[in-house]
Amino acid sequence: MNQAGSEFDTDLLVIGGGSGGVRAARMAAARGARVTLVEAGSMAGLGGTCVNVGCIPKKLYSYAAHYAESFEESHGFGWQGEPPRFDWSKLKQNRRTEIARLNSVYGNLLAGSGVQVVYGRARLLDAHTVTVENADGTGAPARITARHMLIATGGRPQVPEVPGREHVLTSNDMFDIEPFPARLLVIGGGYIACEFASIFNGLGSRVTQLYRGPQVLRGFDDDVRRFLGAEMLKKGVDLRLNAGMTSVERTAEGLRVALQDGGSLVVDAVLCATGRVPNVEGLGLEDAGVAQGPDGAVLVDQSYRTNVPSIYAVGDVTSRMQLTPVALAEAMVVVDHLFGPARGMAPRTLSYEYVPTAVFTHPSVGTVGMTEDEARRELGVIGVYRSEFKALKHTLSGSSERTLMKLLVDEATDCVVGLHMVGPDAGEIVQGFAVAMKAGATKAIFDATIGIHPTAAEEFVTMREPVAGAQ
Ligand SMILES: Cc1cc2nc3c(=O)[nH]c(=O)nc-3n(C[C@H](O)[C@H](O)[C@H](O)COP(=O)(O)OP(=O)(O)OC[C@H]3O[C@@H](n4cnc5c(N)ncnc54)[C@H](O)[C@@H]3O)c2cc1C
Repeated sequence: MNQAGSEFDTDLLVIGGGSGGVRAARMAAARGARVTLVEAGSMAGLGGTCVNVGCIPKKLYSYAAHYAESFEESHGFGWQGEPPRFDWSKLKQNRRTEIARLNSVYGNLLAGSGVQVVYGRARLLDAHTVTVENADGTGAPARITARHMLIATGGRPQVPEVPGREHVLTSNDMFDIEPFPARLLVIGGGYIACEFASIFNGLGSRVTQLYRGPQVLRGFDDDVRRFLGAEMLKKGVDLRLNAGMTSVERTAEGLRVALQDGGSLVVDAVLCATGRVPNVEGLGLEDAGVAQGPDGAVLVDQSYRTNVPSIYAVGDVTSRMQLTPVALAEAMVVVDHLFGPARGMAPRTLSYEYVPTAVFTHPSVGTVGMTEDEARRELGVIGVYRSEFKALKHTLSGSSERTLMKLLVDEATDCVVGLHMVGPDAGEIVQGFAVAMKAGATKAIFDATIGIHPTAAEEFVTMREPVAGAQ
């Protein structure tokens, strides 16, 4: 028994103050639970990857990068004069100010919900106990017991084992890189690599991107991959496929990078966006007996419970779908499971079907549902509807950018099972269509929907003829 007369110090101990952890802590406290959240960073870490080194700063930088082409394109609409000069320091400072504001919003939300926040690194001792190494490393680690625990420690970037790897950067480093890299090499072909290549290309770096695979965005629809790769090349990213680096060396001219094809490059910075691994180092999972997958991910069941009944896990540390809204939704399922649903609501469940996602490249990608390959494999006979066109804006802008839209239809049910787009505002457009698909919308319903004219989005409800021979 502790001083409060309870068997445990707290009802729920959350490890990690990122997307999943903060949501679970706040919602559990709102249900009347005593909640403690441990965050390894300082107050500045609240909000986790998404707020500090992920979604939010990345999207702000993507906005910044888009201005370059907007200034260029404005001439076709009658605007004259030199484009303004880009000030990297100003962008970084404004980003820092906004992120600090968000960190304190998170702090206030937690305090307002009655969550006790402890800053320090948590380590599991057993099924109900953690120690917390205090943030400044002084003093004895605190020991906290909890009825339930939630691991929400996220993931971290992984850098390949190449000679000179100490010279390479990860996405965490790019937001504050100094000086601005005039020549940037991006290694990787996933969404983070492509986004950073687009952002720094837009901001004025000479960007080379190397990807070992045959096309970027593995796992996305093949048309999307091909189309995006071609558009990124058109925008000036020197995208090289089936390519990689073998070593990095610092020289007087910059970083000399040896390439797999025998060539070399000299650049100012190398970004390795070559995957992320679950953040489990030093977490004491073995001591508590928590089962892990081959990549270290915490293994969970459909209630996000680990093999240790008092310990749960959500978000990137489980290596499932690594997206902020998914971590938030998983957190809500855990809270309902442990403390009951909100008044008048049924306990939440989470389906990973039709989770929409966007890639904030230039141009951006929005996608929901199956790829063409998946649809063929799982459904057999499908209808493929595809449209490639120049958006109205670019009839005057002088840009050669094109837009791709694609629908996949299950011929047996007429349901739209895949919807993909490469083009401006793809994420904004696809979000709405994801609702329709979640509701089981058929192609007939798409066809009966009146378009909004003139938009790019209307193309999704006006594609009438399947691609010849696609079935
Ligand atoms: C560059 C980049 C761009 C991204 N863009 C998008 C996007 O556009 N859209 C999208 O949906 N997702 C995006 N993501 C993914 C998204 O950020 C993650 O899916 C999300 O943050 C996962 O939330 P989480 O709660 O699992 O972990 P995190 O948000 O990573 O939080 C984990 C927290 O745990 C803390 N922690 C770790 N170990 C300990 C410990 N031992 N003790 C105490 N605290 C600990 C960490 O300090 C951190 O604050 C992006 C990610 C990156 C890297």
